[in-house]
Amino acid sequence: MAKPVVDPDLCTGCESCVDICPEVFEMGDDGLSWVKNPNACNNCDCQEAIDNCPVEAISWEA
Ligand code: SF4
Repeated sequence: MAKPVVDPDLCTGCESCVDICPEVFEMGDDGLSWVKNPNACNNCDCQEAIDNCPVEAISWEA
């Protein structure tokens, strides 16, 4: 199963992905998003989170 990954060098901490897919993404203490549960995206909401990230920091793990 594909897993979403956040590139911390690109993430600006806008929290959009956490709003869209809170089961998968969480804001870390560093103010950046991280993937807390990559397997929670069974409804494919993560694609919406990927599409809505303003800096394209989220991608599917290769
Ligand atoms: S939507 Fe993109 S820039 Fe915003 S918190 Fe998530 S990964 Fe970071």
